[in-house]
Amino acid sequence: MTLSRLYPELANGQKMEPKDYTITALPALTDNYIWIISNNKDAIVIDPTIAKPVSQYLQQHNLKLKAILLTHPHGDHIGGVAELVNLFQPQVVDNFKGQLSDDMLVSIDGFPGFRIITTPGHMYEHVCYLLDSTHLFCGDTLFSLGCGRVFTGDFQAMYNSLNKIKALVNSNSGLSNLNTNANDLQLKKTILCYPAHEYTMRNYEFTVAIDDGNNKYYEPLSANINSRLLTTGISLPVNLEDELNYNLFLRTDDPRIWPIVGAKAGVQVEDAFSCFYHLRQLRNNF
Ligand SMILES: [Zn+2]
Repeated sequence: MTLSRLYPELANGQKMEPKDYTITALPALTDNYIWIISNNKDAIVIDPTIAKPVSQYLQQHNLKLKAILLTHPHGDHIGGVAELVNLFQPQVVDNFKGQLSDDMLVSIDGFPGFRIITTPGHMYEHVCYLLDSTHLFCGDTLFSLGCGRVFTGDFQAMYNSLNKIKALVNSNSGLSNLNTNANDLQLKKTILCYPAHEYTMRNYEFTVAIDDGNNKYYEPLSANINSRLLTTGISLPVNLEDELNYNLFLRTDDPRIWPIVGAKAGVQVEDAFSCFYHLRQLRNNF
């Protein structure tokens, strides 16, 4: 594994070899997901809550654990690390001492790179990992239809972190907003989000309770979440563009949302940050 400050696939003008890999959720505790990425011989695990489901999966699929990537040091994200390190000696990547930055790429043999996105707010050390410009492992920063609690108390940092995630949709297209004909739209790459918890239905309930005058807008979501939970037991991953359309925490720059949140919070909301702040407080008490 190397940690570089350049994106190799961009630096030399060549794309890395396309590699086949799969991403699987291993449920743990009451609502955690451990995400495991594997090719036909190696695996990388994100936030191993506990070791057992990971070691079982590795054994079942005859895989070697090459690396553990950690989003932040909460116990339900790192609980399995010591045992997995002891069993398999993987590399461990984390930002617990603030050693990672946004211009870094984690390269692990046999897999595309993981771009580091620092996302302080839930905890100062929080980082997200964007695999292959497509798969965003967002820990406890972004949930489907919600976002993480701001344990640092630094709401501005959390707001900035969510904006950084939002900006990935546009930066990924590599195109200006003025230049969106049908061909260009096809070039736009989808980003899928892989949060660390199954909070989607509760967040849906919160969303329709806050935006109660527009419940029809959210109706298709409810059927979709329910059918995914019934058929696969998991509502994730979710498309970042859908989140931009439906997740209130990513829509705080829309002035139409301000009076809706203001009325529920009993305050005057006149800017995006204060909309975010009050929305997060409302969610804490929901
Ligand atoms: Zn956490």
